Amino acid sequence: MPRTPVLIVGGGPVGLALAGELGWRGVACTLIEQSDGTIVTPKMNEVNIRTMEFCRRWGIAEDVLACPFPRDYPLDVAFVTTLSGYELARMPRPPRMSEETEPHSPMRLQVCSQMWFDPILKRFANSYANVKLNYLTRLESFEVLENGIDAEIVNLASGRRDRIEADYLVGCDGANSLVRRSLGIGLVGKTLGHPVHLYFRAPGLLGRLGCKQATFFVTVDRKGVWSNVRVIDPVNAMWRLMVLDADEGLTPEAVDREAYLERALGRRIKVEWLGTSVWTRRSVVAERYSQGRVFLAGDAVHQLSPTGALGMNTGIGDAVDLGWKLAAVQQGWGGEELLASYNAERRPVGLRNVKLTAEFYGEHEKFGEELAAIEDDNAAGAQVRGRIGEKLVQGIGRMFRTTGLQIGYRYEDSPICVPDGTPPSSDHPENYEPSARPGSRAPHAWLAEDRSTLDLFGHGFVLLRIGPDAPDVSTFEAAAAGDLPLTTVAVARQEVHDLYERRLVLVRPDGHVAWRADELPLNLSSIVDSVRGAVQLR
Ligand SMILES: Cc1cc2nc3c(=O)[nH]c(=O)nc-3n(C[C@H](O)[C@H](O)[C@H](O)COP(=O)(O)OP(=O)(O)OC[C@H]3O[C@@H](n4cnc5c(N)ncnc54)[C@H](O)[C@@H]3O)c2cc1C
Repeated sequence: MPRTPVLIVGGGPVGLALAGELGWRGVACTLIEQSDGTIVTPKMNEVNIRTMEFCRRWGIAEDVLACPFPRDYPLDVAFVTTLSGYELARMPRPPRMSEETEPHSPMRLQVCSQMWFDPILKRFANSYANVKLNYLTRLESFEVLENGIDAEIVNLASGRRDRIEADYLVGCDGANSLVRRSLGIGLVGKTLGHPVHLYFRAPGLLGRLGCKQATFFVTVDRKGVWSNVRVIDPVNAMWRLMVLDADEGLTPEAVDREAYLERALGRRIKVEWLGTSVWTRRSVVAERYSQGRVFLAGDAVHQLSPTGALGMNTGIGDAVDLGWKLAAVQQGWGGEELLASYNAERRPVGLRNVKLTAEFYGEHEKFGEELAAIEDDNAAGAQVRGRIGEKLVQGIGRMFRTTGLQIGYRYEDSPICVPDGTPPSSDHPENYEPSARPGSRAPHAWLAEDRSTLDLFGHGFVLLRIGPDAPDVSTFEAAAAGDLPLTTVAVARQEVHDLYERRLVLVRPDGHVAWRADELPLNLSSIVDSVRGAVQLR
């Protein structure tokens, strides 16, 4: 029977990112995906700052920047009664290639539909000879053995059944995860509604409607905030109308597409229909992210309302956290507690993101009788529109102001980060407060033109010696030798010292701070053992 170190189930963005991350770290893995990988009706469009930072590390950021979404197309969000009606407010967002930079990162959020992003991840994963991607292959069942996993798989093209053994199994198999269900792991949370997606092609749509360009339109009429309309591919005029909440049990065949479209556009326009789907908006997190040799990542363990564009981005964060830990164990330097820290670190992030995106969705429901005159063509109507416009930007607009959410997550109470006694910085969804407190993402500062502190991290641990009087670290290097892959880097810039606040900062392979101090303590081997999960810190 063939054996692989890591068997990944599911070739959505999270499974592909994990396969690529493992390949990049030199760890062999096999991914199985039941579909042929074609994406007909893409869900995800926004690749956030943190995911772009990972893409930069993996060497694929340029591919994302080069995706077919036009570089100069405004990413604005417009609040409208209909696309041919009144515009109540607008949140300008610079086009993809604007000169505007992100102060806290070398990267910016990018609009790149899943139909382009997944193939980029697939090419990245496929570029490693030790990564095997098997499409049209489904996991049927699996058994956990003492020293591994025995999985039954079926090739859907030939019908042939096979068994494959693995050291570890990772379920990246989406919301209905067979891997999670097989382990009896439940989901905690609630259902928020039953949206409908209508995909269509409509060349010259905005021109025909007399509507100013934007990427995302939120529609609000007398009955409330009821839908949004997004351009997915401006070049090929591909659009998606999302009805926020329809009747439970509605089937795609029963959806009155023309009626919904007319309500959103304010006019009857002929379009080419590309697809319809009905789904359930959930706000749930799995009871646990792992059990023994089996791990879960992405939608298999957290399903977020898309308000905030965090579903896939949270899942990619899972893949990166799990990836370096699996690699460390495979390479022999990861300790017994390392893999258990995956649940301890990532589940709280899942809970945080699920809670906030549900809050953002709740902002859509805060409008009532005040909307009665919103479409009236008179001074009173104009006044209502002005007032509601401000309220929309304040409330629903929150889901587009999320720098803190994207890069401010930290591994509080992690069993493999050594606390330094300082209180946590604020975790505000909108405003990111840089911090190098253990558990945080090591902050970005420019070291040279197009060289960020973040570019120092990725392979192994990095011990930063910051400033002219940073202590000698040869005893630390000696304590790490053989146990921890470690590179020491001296950084002179005052700005880095101001951000990192200590002269010695140990950064993990995923770019999070593991430990920091001004002086070397006596218990060096205990620090080395803690950060590689060889001893239990808590
Ligand atoms: C309208 C909408 C907009 C969104 N926008 C964004 C956004 O802008 N940014 C963002 O970050 N997120 C967004 N999301 C969320 C995002 O699409 C999901 O979080 C993401 O696709 C989850 O990725 P995944 O790989 O975990 O799961 P999936 O994409 O669901 O992939 C799981 C894969 O596993 C395969 N599979 C399942 N069972 C088996 C089996 N037994 N054997 C083999 N293969 C199997 C499936 O075929 C599937 O390909 C959006 C979601 C929606 C609904």
